[in-house]
Amino acid sequence: MPPLRAPHAPTPEIPVDDALALILASVAPLPAERIPFTQAAGRVLAAPVTAREAMPPFAASSRDGYAVIAADGIGTRRVIGEAVAGGAGGLVVTAGTAARITTGAPLPAGADAVVMVEDTERNFVARGPDGGGDVGGAGDDVVVLRAVEVGENVRPVGQDYAAGDVLLAPGAVLGPAEIGLLASGGAIEVDVFRRPRVIVYSTGDELVEPDRTPGPGQIRDSNRFAMAEAVKEAGGEVVFAGRLGDNADDVDALAAAVTSADVVVTSGGVSMGHMDLVKPWLAANGTLVFGRVRTKPGKPVTFARVGGTPCFALPGFPVSTLVCFELFVRPALRAMGGHIDVRRPLWPVTLVHDVAHAGDRVEFARAVVKLGADGRPVARTTGFQGSGRLLSMAGANALLRLEGAEGLARAGDVVPALIIAPVGGGS
Ligand code: AMP
Ligand code: MG
Repeated sequence: MPPLRAPHAPTPEIPVDDALALILASVAPLPAERIPFTQAAGRVLAAPVTAREAMPPFAASSRDGYAVIAADGIGTRRVIGEAVAGGAGGLVVTAGTAARITTGAPLPAGADAVVMVEDTERNFVARGPDGGGDVGGAGDDVVVLRAVEVGENVRPVGQDYAAGDVLLAPGAVLGPAEIGLLASGGAIEVDVFRRPRVIVYSTGDELVEPDRTPGPGQIRDSNRFAMAEAVKEAGGEVVFAGRLGDNADDVDALAAAVTSADVVVTSGGVSMGHMDLVKPWLAANGTLVFGRVRTKPGKPVTFARVGGTPCFALPGFPVSTLVCFELFVRPALRAMGGHIDVRRPLWPVTLVHDVAHAGDRVEFARAVVKLGADGRPVARTTGFQGSGRLLSMAGANALLRLEGAEGLARAGDVVPALIIAPVGGGS
């Protein structure tokens, strides 16, 4: 079969750190949008959220007990009634009296402290334990066994924050605590950075859908699904995920993709074969920023801009696809989504065994990092590191960054590791 397009000349191979720097220099946070706070989990604040009211808005008891005047000290008090959480108040504590109070109830006027119920004894004057009803309530006496300081067991107005305080600053990532704060502050709509809308394509004539039994020479498409999940994990929105054949008409679908998405990510078709049409298409229709990186796996990884849209063409071997996504696409999506921390943490980890690696480029070996008995992270690779062996990526929580002409890292060596999933304890 004749070439569909002339084979392209090799592009220069650049260092992995330069590649990421070029990417991050060419992407910026997307515009903000205003959304309901209930839909804001995982998003990044674009504008500060300030408190409309103080918290607590009223002096509140932090215990179940009795609201008293601290200066009265220990001794017997007449109980004048009960202040309950959610109650409007109205009680007035005067010298020699106390009001029963529940946690979260407003401190009655006149009272300046709360004695914990554990530090009291009840005298059942009015109704008594056999009289039924509300023992320890109005009409009974309470004996204060331990004196309290002014303000003890009381949360003063504004203890947490004052009206006008900044609750959440731009750049805050909205997790459970932040969503709770928004609810607490009545911030029912928030300004957050828009999530990058991403179109994902796998390419390759050999690919069939996962529900098919592959015929001769065919394999099931896995990259499309792995990439779509990786987009979501990075905070992006998959607007479309499809599959393209190795022909010019199919690859031309990228023209529509770049006009309707914020980012386009493809897998396959970036090697030097005459059927590898993605890189030539990007070069012909846009600007190649880089087309080869000194990394393993993923040397032919390509980054281009077409009509201003960042396009990542990842190599098709499933591990190359996901490792390159981690190294290059994820930081870009995070930056576009407004994240300040766009990179994974880089930890020094101790190798449990020798690891051979490429000597001429940086190799990212898939590994499981655990905290050893002494609390230091130790790493074990996931076995055979072939770039087609997706199993080497499954269960991995780290990518070991291995470099050096010798091509061997030894047991006991400390190497940098990108932590891509939570690290557990035990070795
Ligand atoms: P390519 O980068 O297109 O040369 O593909 C390299 C290798 O990855 C070939 O063995 C492909 O069959 C395989 N491959 C490419 N795309 C996919 C995909 N979407 N799912 C699974 N394997 C793929
Ligand atoms: Mg291919």
